[in-house]
Amino acid sequence: MDVSIVIPVYNEEESLPHLHAAIETALAGLTRTWEVIYVNDGSRDQSQTALEKLAAQDPARVCVVEFRRNFGQTTAVAAGIDHARGDVIVFLDADLQNDPADIPMILDKLDEGYDVVSGWRKNREDNALTRNLPSHMANWLISKVTGVHLHDYGCTLKAYRREVITGFRLYGEMHRFIPVYANAIGAKMLEVPVRHHARQFGKSKYGLERTVKVVLDLIAVQFLTRYSAKPIYLFGGGGIAMFAAGFAGLLFLAVRKLIIQVDILTSPIFIIAVLLALMGFQSILMGLIAELLVRTYHESQQKPTYTLRKVIRG
Ligand code: UDP
Ligand code: MG
Repeated sequence: MDVSIVIPVYNEEESLPHLHAAIETALAGLTRTWEVIYVNDGSRDQSQTALEKLAAQDPARVCVVEFRRNFGQTTAVAAGIDHARGDVIVFLDADLQNDPADIPMILDKLDEGYDVVSGWRKNREDNALTRNLPSHMANWLISKVTGVHLHDYGCTLKAYRREVITGFRLYGEMHRFIPVYANAIGAKMLEVPVRHHARQFGKSKYGLERTVKVVLDLIAVQFLTRYSAKPIYLFGGGGIAMFAAGFAGLLFLAVRKLIIQVDILTSPIFIIAVLLALMGFQSILMGLIAELLVRTYHESQQKPTYTLRKVIRG
């Protein structure tokens, strides 16, 4: 199988027939073999019936994965990856906001030697104030913090070579950070503008509360990609800094006492310095525990601490 298209579906009954027709039209001219994996994320409308109808019409190409309840878009994406058989995995929204007609262009770009081709909704058809503005800020922040510069992390339409997305698990709302993980394992990435349409049917499943989750996920992703192999550099680094500051404070108080006889306990510096030293010490210990956990993580799963592109021998 060349291409798997993975689509999370939550209450999108009206869109589905149009979506599938658009995919068929878009991919009709391709010489590649392809399949569509629809993951029904516990929809409460008639999405499942619609999906089963599509599967009955084209059993060779349509796979429907039905969740028992709503687990969220990230989990749906993860299940889609687990069921995909293609060498290339393309993600798409079910609501017709992404345009399947962009897929052939994206596949061509992958053929040029990229591991990830990321869609960018250059002319985005969503509410400017509640959607586009927070999204702009989030993209700026994620790019700044991770060093992976993309204009549009939130755009679902992205294509990946299988090898760069099967090595890790997705939790929380993490699907938008897949490019960061892919970059961390050394994937070659390209960003291309794609079409975007206003929602025709149903309504968006998200509101502003998503912004908070994105910020928290960003912290987690940054920690995992930077320090998951060496957590003590983070905990220990902070710990040593705090310990040193505390020590310096106490030293200052002791010297002052010796030279100008000011009582140590008269100054708030005392309690601050003691706290800093204690917290620094704790943080170093926490780093050591994290080191143990990392070893359990890598060794119990026989996970190497590196990722390979290829090995040539003989
Ligand atoms: N979705 C999902 N589970 C959820 C919420 C959303 O599978 O809990 C799907 C939804 O059906 C759509 C995609 O994720 O295919 C993106 O959702 P939506 O269009 O609501 O997000 P927006 O485009 O407004 O950011
Ligand atoms: Mg949408």
